[in-house]
Amino acid sequence: MNFEMITYEEIGPIARISHNRPEYRNAENRQLLKELDDAIVRAGEDESIRVVILGGKGDHFSAGHDLKEGAAKRGSFNLEERWAYEEEYFFDYCMRIKNLPKPTIAQVQGACIAGGFMVANMCDLMIASDDAFFADPVLHSMAVPGVEVMIHPWVLGTRKAKEFLFTGDRLYAQDALNSGMVNKVVSRENLEEETLAMAKRIAQAPPFAIKLLKKSLKRTLDIQGLQNSLDSHFDTHLLSHFTEESKNLNKSGFDKVITRSKTLNEQ
Ligand code: ZN
Repeated sequence: MNFEMITYEEIGPIARISHNRPEYRNAENRQLLKELDDAIVRAGEDESIRVVILGGKGDHFSAGHDLKEGAAKRGSFNLEERWAYEEEYFFDYCMRIKNLPKPTIAQVQGACIAGGFMVANMCDLMIASDDAFFADPVLHSMAVPGVEVMIHPWVLGTRKAKEFLFTGDRLYAQDALNSGMVNKVVSRENLEEETLAMAKRIAQAPPFAIKLLKKSLKRTLDIQGLQNSLDSHFDTHLLSHFTEESKNLNKSGFDKVITRSKTLNEQ
Protein backbone atom coordinates (compact mmCIF):
# COMPACT_ATOMS: atom_id res chain seq x y z
CA MET A 1 0.00 0.00 0.00
CA ASN A 2 1.55 3.27 -1.10
CA PHE A 3 0.67 6.43 0.75
CA GLU A 4 1.34 9.96 -0.48
CA MET A 5 -0.48 12.16 2.02
CA ILE A 6 0.23 10.17 5.17
CA THR A 7 3.02 8.02 6.53
CA TYR A 8 2.59 4.54 7.98
CA GLU A 9 5.41 3.43 10.26
CA GLU A 10 5.66 0.12 12.08
CA ILE A 11 7.65 0.31 15.29
CA GLY A 12 7.50 -3.22 16.73
CA PRO A 13 3.85 -3.78 17.73
CA ILE A 14 2.98 -0.12 17.16
CA ALA A 15 1.65 1.47 13.97
CA ARG A 16 2.26 5.20 13.78
CA ILE A 17 0.03 6.86 11.21
CA SER A 18 0.77 10.53 10.48
CA HIS A 19 -0.78 13.25 8.39
CA ASN A 20 1.99 14.19 5.97
CA ARG A 21 1.22 17.48 4.21
CA PRO A 22 3.28 19.72 6.49
CA GLU A 23 3.49 22.44 3.82
CA TYR A 24 -0.31 22.79 4.11
CA ARG A 25 -0.40 22.48 7.91
CA ASN A 26 -1.59 18.90 7.28
CA ALA A 27 -4.94 20.08 5.88
CA GLU A 28 -7.13 17.03 5.30
CA ASN A 29 -8.09 16.73 1.65
CA ARG A 30 -10.05 13.85 0.15
CA GLN A 31 -7.00 11.75 -0.65
CA LEU A 32 -5.48 12.23 2.80
CA LEU A 33 -8.69 11.17 4.53
CA LYS A 34 -8.99 8.11 2.28
CA GLU A 35 -5.40 7.12 2.99
CA LEU A 36 -5.94 7.66 6.73
CA ASP A 37 -8.91 5.32 6.56
CA ASP A 38 -6.97 2.69 4.58
CA ALA A 39 -4.18 2.90 7.15
CA ILE A 40 -6.58 2.47 10.07
CA VAL A 41 -8.15 -0.58 8.40
CA ARG A 42 -4.67 -2.01 7.72
CA ALA A 43 -3.55 -1.49 11.34
CA GLY A 44 -6.79 -3.07 12.53
CA GLU A 45 -6.35 -6.15 10.37
CA ASP A 46 -2.63 -6.64 11.07
CA GLU A 47 -2.41 -9.04 14.01
CA SER A 48 1.14 -7.96 14.84
CA ILE A 49 -0.09 -4.41 15.58
CA ARG A 50 -1.24 -3.85 19.16
CA VAL A 51 -1.44 -0.05 19.46
CA VAL A 52 -1.97 2.76 16.96
CA ILE A 53 -0.53 6.28 17.24
CA LEU A 54 -2.19 8.98 15.14
CA GLY A 55 -0.10 12.09 14.55
CA GLY A 56 1.06 14.70 12.07
CA LYS A 57 4.47 15.35 10.51
CA GLY A 58 5.87 18.88 10.81
CA ASP A 59 4.84 21.75 13.05
CA HIS A 60 1.14 20.94 13.32
CA PHE A 61 -1.16 17.98 13.87
CA SER A 62 -3.71 19.31 11.37
CA ALA A 63 -5.39 22.60 10.50
CA GLY A 64 -8.58 20.67 9.59
CA HIS A 65 -10.40 19.92 6.38
CA ASP A 66 -8.89 21.33 3.19
CA LEU A 67 -11.41 24.13 2.62
CA LYS A 68 -9.90 25.18 -0.70
CA GLU A 69 -10.37 21.73 -2.15
CA GLY A 70 -13.86 21.65 -0.63
CA ALA A 71 -14.83 24.91 -2.32
CA ALA A 72 -13.35 23.94 -5.70
CA LYS A 73 -14.69 20.38 -5.87
CA ARG A 74 -17.78 20.35 -3.68
CA GLY A 75 -18.93 23.97 -3.50
CA SER A 76 -21.95 23.27 -5.72
CA PHE A 77 -22.94 19.96 -4.14
CA ASN A 78 -26.62 19.56 -3.44
CA LEU A 79 -27.79 18.14 -0.12
CA GLU A 80 -27.75 14.53 -1.31
CA GLU A 81 -24.22 14.80 -2.67
CA ARG A 82 -22.95 16.64 0.36
CA TRP A 83 -24.58 14.14 2.70
CA ALA A 84 -22.96 11.21 0.92
CA TYR A 85 -19.53 12.86 0.93
CA GLU A 86 -19.54 14.06 4.55
CA GLU A 87 -21.03 10.82 5.82
CA GLU A 88 -18.28 8.75 4.23
CA TYR A 89 -15.21 10.98 4.55
CA PHE A 90 -15.95 12.91 7.72
CA PHE A 91 -18.31 10.77 9.81
CA ASP A 92 -17.79 7.09 8.95
CA TYR A 93 -14.00 7.42 8.74
CA CYS A 94 -14.03 9.01 12.21
CA MET A 95 -16.20 6.20 13.58
CA ARG A 96 -13.72 3.66 12.23
CA ILE A 97 -10.94 5.31 14.24
CA LYS A 98 -13.16 5.54 17.33
CA ASN A 99 -14.27 1.91 17.08
CA LEU A 100 -10.94 0.35 16.15
CA PRO A 101 -10.65 -2.69 18.45
CA LYS A 102 -7.12 -1.67 19.45
CA PRO A 103 -5.97 1.17 21.68
CA THR A 104 -5.26 4.44 19.87
CA ILE A 105 -3.22 7.45 20.99
CA ALA A 106 -3.36 10.90 19.39
CA GLN A 107 0.03 12.60 19.31
CA VAL A 108 -0.66 16.32 18.95
CA GLN A 109 1.61 19.31 18.38
CA GLY A 110 0.86 22.83 17.09
CA ALA A 111 -2.56 23.38 15.52
CA CYS A 112 -5.33 20.82 15.96
CA ILE A 113 -8.30 22.56 14.40
CA ALA A 114 -11.88 21.63 13.41
CA GLY A 115 -11.59 18.46 11.25
CA GLY A 116 -8.21 17.78 12.87
CA PHE A 117 -9.75 18.19 16.33
CA MET A 118 -12.45 15.69 15.37
CA VAL A 119 -9.98 13.07 14.12
CA ALA A 120 -7.60 13.44 17.09
CA ASN A 121 -10.47 13.10 19.54
CA MET A 122 -11.53 9.77 18.06
CA CYS A 123 -8.47 8.31 19.76
CA ASP A 124 -8.64 6.69 23.19
CA LEU A 125 -5.83 8.77 24.64
CA MET A 126 -4.17 12.04 23.75
CA ILE A 127 -0.66 13.29 24.39
CA ALA A 128 0.03 16.90 23.47
CA SER A 129 3.14 19.02 23.30
CA ASP A 130 3.11 22.23 25.33
CA ASP A 131 2.75 24.26 22.10
CA ALA A 132 -0.40 22.41 21.00
CA PHE A 133 -3.68 24.26 20.67
CA PHE A 134 -7.19 23.22 19.73
CA ALA A 135 -10.09 25.10 18.14
CA ASP A 136 -13.39 24.53 16.40
CA PRO A 137 -14.20 27.93 14.88
CA VAL A 138 -16.77 26.79 12.28
CA LEU A 139 -19.75 28.32 14.12
CA HIS A 140 -18.32 31.79 13.51
CA SER A 141 -16.55 31.12 10.22
CA MET A 142 -19.16 28.99 8.40
CA ALA A 143 -22.39 29.27 10.43
CA VAL A 144 -22.46 25.55 11.18
CA PRO A 145 -22.97 24.14 14.69
CA GLY A 146 -19.51 22.65 15.16
CA VAL A 147 -17.82 20.05 12.97
CA GLU A 148 -19.51 16.86 11.77
CA VAL A 149 -18.70 14.74 14.83
CA MET A 150 -19.85 16.44 18.05
CA ILE A 151 -17.37 14.75 20.33
CA HIS A 152 -16.62 17.98 22.23
CA PRO A 153 -18.86 17.61 25.33
CA TRP A 154 -17.72 14.01 25.77
CA VAL A 155 -14.04 14.90 25.92
CA LEU A 156 -14.19 18.38 27.46
CA GLY A 157 -17.25 18.30 29.70
CA THR A 158 -20.27 20.36 28.72
CA ARG A 159 -19.29 23.61 30.46
CA LYS A 160 -15.90 23.85 28.77
CA ALA A 161 -17.26 22.50 25.46
CA LYS A 162 -19.84 25.28 25.33
CA GLU A 163 -17.23 27.98 25.90
CA PHE A 164 -14.97 26.33 23.29
CA LEU A 165 -17.76 26.14 20.69
CA PHE A 166 -19.58 29.41 21.41
CA THR A 167 -16.38 31.49 21.22
CA GLY A 168 -14.39 29.48 18.64
CA ASP A 169 -11.30 30.51 20.62
CA ARG A 170 -8.16 28.46 21.01
CA LEU A 171 -7.84 25.97 23.84
CA TYR A 172 -4.20 25.54 24.78
CA ALA A 173 -2.61 22.24 25.80
CA GLN A 174 -2.45 23.02 29.53
CA ASP A 175 -6.16 23.97 29.66
CA ALA A 176 -7.02 20.87 27.64
CA LEU A 177 -5.11 18.83 30.22
CA ASN A 178 -7.00 20.50 33.06
CA SER A 179 -10.30 19.73 31.29
CA GLY A 180 -9.40 16.05 31.02
CA MET A 181 -9.30 16.04 27.21
CA VAL A 182 -5.54 15.50 27.13
CA ASN A 183 -3.82 12.79 29.16
CA LYS A 184 -0.37 14.31 29.28
CA VAL A 185 1.44 17.49 28.18
CA VAL A 186 5.12 17.16 27.31
CA SER A 187 7.74 19.32 25.62
CA ARG A 188 7.72 19.40 21.83
CA GLU A 189 11.08 17.63 21.65
CA ASN A 190 9.88 14.78 23.89
CA LEU A 191 6.49 14.32 22.24
CA GLU A 192 7.37 11.37 20.00
CA GLU A 193 9.37 9.60 22.65
CA GLU A 194 6.74 10.00 25.39
CA THR A 195 3.95 8.88 23.07
CA LEU A 196 5.93 5.83 21.99
CA ALA A 197 6.71 5.00 25.63
CA MET A 198 3.01 4.97 26.49
CA ALA A 199 2.19 2.95 23.36
CA LYS A 200 4.87 0.38 24.25
CA ARG A 201 3.52 0.05 27.80
CA ILE A 202 -0.02 -0.52 26.49
CA ALA A 203 1.24 -2.93 23.80
CA GLN A 204 2.30 -5.33 26.58
CA ALA A 205 -1.35 -5.95 27.51
CA PRO A 206 -3.01 -9.16 26.27
CA PRO A 207 -4.62 -8.12 22.95
CA PHE A 208 -7.91 -9.98 23.29
CA ALA A 209 -8.49 -8.69 26.83
CA ILE A 210 -7.80 -5.11 25.81
CA LYS A 211 -10.18 -5.52 22.86
CA LEU A 212 -12.88 -6.59 25.34
CA LEU A 213 -11.95 -3.73 27.66
CA LYS A 214 -12.36 -1.24 24.81
CA LYS A 215 -15.73 -2.82 23.95
CA SER A 216 -16.92 -2.42 27.55
CA LEU A 217 -15.80 1.20 27.70
CA LYS A 218 -17.52 1.87 24.36
CA ARG A 219 -20.73 0.36 25.74
CA THR A 220 -20.42 2.47 28.89
CA LEU A 221 -20.40 5.61 26.75
CA ASP A 222 -23.07 4.35 24.36
CA ILE A 223 -25.42 3.59 27.28
CA GLN A 224 -24.99 7.26 28.17
CA GLY A 225 -25.96 8.09 24.58
CA LEU A 226 -22.65 8.73 22.83
CA GLN A 227 -23.38 7.00 19.51
CA ASN A 228 -26.96 8.28 19.29
CA SER A 229 -25.87 11.80 20.02
CA LEU A 230 -23.10 11.69 17.39
CA ASP A 231 -25.56 10.27 14.83
CA SER A 232 -28.14 12.95 15.53
CA HIS A 233 -25.62 15.81 15.45
CA PHE A 234 -24.51 14.71 11.99
CA ASP A 235 -28.07 15.29 10.71
CA THR A 236 -28.20 18.71 12.38
CA HIS A 237 -24.80 19.63 11.00
CA LEU A 238 -25.77 18.68 7.43
CA LEU A 239 -28.95 20.75 7.67
CA SER A 240 -26.92 23.79 8.67
CA HIS A 241 -24.89 23.73 5.43
CA PHE A 242 -28.08 24.75 3.62
CA THR A 243 -29.29 27.62 5.83
CA GLU A 244 -29.45 31.22 4.62
CA GLU A 245 -26.90 32.17 7.28
CA SER A 246 -24.46 29.65 5.98
CA LYS A 247 -25.10 30.51 2.31
CA ASN A 248 -24.65 34.23 3.01
CA LEU A 249 -21.33 33.63 4.75
CA ASN A 250 -20.14 31.37 1.98
CA LYS A 251 -21.26 33.78 -0.74
CA SER A 252 -18.36 35.96 0.30
CA GLY A 253 -16.11 33.12 -0.82
CA PHE A 254 -14.09 30.38 0.81
CA ASP A 255 -10.99 32.57 1.03
CA LYS A 256 -12.98 34.70 3.46
CA VAL A 257 -14.06 31.58 5.41
CA ILE A 258 -10.40 30.64 5.74
CA THR A 259 -9.48 34.19 6.76
CA ARG A 260 -12.30 34.25 9.34
CA SER A 261 -11.05 30.93 10.75
CA LYS A 262 -7.50 32.21 10.91
CA THR A 263 -8.48 35.52 12.51
CA LEU A 264 -10.43 33.67 15.15
CA ASN A 265 -7.59 31.29 15.77
CA GLU A 266 -5.05 34.02 16.15
CA GLN A 267 -6.98 35.64 18.98
ZN1 ZN B 1 -19.96 19.66 7.06
